[in-house]
Amino acid sequence: MEYRRLPKGAEEISVIGFGGSGLHQAGEEAGAETVLAAIEHGVNYFDMAVSEAAAFKSYRAAFAGRREQVYLQMHFGADYSDRQYGWTTDARRIRRGMDWLLRELDTDYIDFGFIHCIDQTADLEKYISSGALAYIQTLKEEGVVRHIGLSSHTPAIVNKLLDMGILDVVMFSINPAYDYRRGDYAYGGMDEREALYRRCQAERVGITVMKPFGGGQLLDERLSPFGQALTESQCIQYALDKPGVLNVLPGIRNRTDLNRVLAYLSASTEERDYSAISTFAPAEAEGRCVYCAHCHPCPKGLDIALINKYYDLARAGDALAADHYRKLELHAGDCISCGHCDSRCPFHVNQSGRMAEIAGHFGM
Ligand code: SF4
Ligand code: SF4
Repeated sequence: MEYRRLPKGAEEISVIGFGGSGLHQAGEEAGAETVLAAIEHGVNYFDMAVSEAAAFKSYRAAFAGRREQVYLQMHFGADYSDRQYGWTTDARRIRRGMDWLLRELDTDYIDFGFIHCIDQTADLEKYISSGALAYIQTLKEEGVVRHIGLSSHTPAIVNKLLDMGILDVVMFSINPAYDYRRGDYAYGGMDEREALYRRCQAERVGITVMKPFGGGQLLDERLSPFGQALTESQCIQYALDKPGVLNVLPGIRNRTDLNRVLAYLSASTEERDYSAISTFAPAEAEGRCVYCAHCHPCPKGLDIALINKYYDLARAGDALAADHYRKLELHAGDCISCGHCDSRCPFHVNQSGRMAEIAGHFGM
């Protein structure tokens, strides 16, 4: 397992997380075994927004004696008062529900307390005016909540919360379909979404990725908005390459799902290569580097994808990224304009030209 450090914290978070929205389908015992198997494979980050409350029994059984080994993302606003998933912005219901969930999971702290699923400004206003946000902040002051997060599909809402400076984590939907304006949650244009990922990285807010497979549609050529299927490993790599991303949280219902997701860890570079998305990329994606590394290796040894990522982040005001760039062994200034990357790039990036531009920007 690979781990990424929470920027505002000491937590080392597994790049593969566990989304359990369908976990109840396995049944209590098999569900617990699935969670346990995930922990044994190094998964340490679990999302607690489930479809049916029955899943919490499986989580509780699997976490018994291991609570300190796992990080739980718990949602203030996911309501299980009738045992099915429901959504609320009402502070009293949220408080009641969270008290119940802490007992149900047999824990007394919340690693990541999430403002749950806000996509509209009006809902955010209700969440604040009802006292729900203040409640999470109080729990943070008391040490019950360790980090505050937000789950949303909407860049404009995430930006509003980032403006408030209270977030350590954002759970956001990232996959090629949504980034290319296809699918139910494809909110925001490419520029707006990319700017959001860069802002998160610059402001040291980690992104946990929901719907990395577009709700499964991207894995099935009959359902994919592009008429072409991608694999789990391609979608995972795509999300992990975005700035700010800590991990992905694919929906895992059983051992079969878990195994398919964990296969990413042993997948080859070719199996993770998602450059196939260039065949359905819209015109606005032409010439933009997506950091896919398909053009590697560079004969001079430059890490082309990383150099491009640092450059884009630095231009967005990320001083840390500029510093990381300067510390690289080889810089854009070492490019010999051989053109190898230009001919390899499926997104038609004029990379040798871009290297000259990057070298000019950093002076190296
Ligand atoms: S230049 Fe093209 S192939 Fe290379 S990392 Fe960027 S998008 Fe990928
Ligand atoms: S053009 Fe520059 S960056 Fe691209 S492969 Fe050649 S040396 Fe490497």
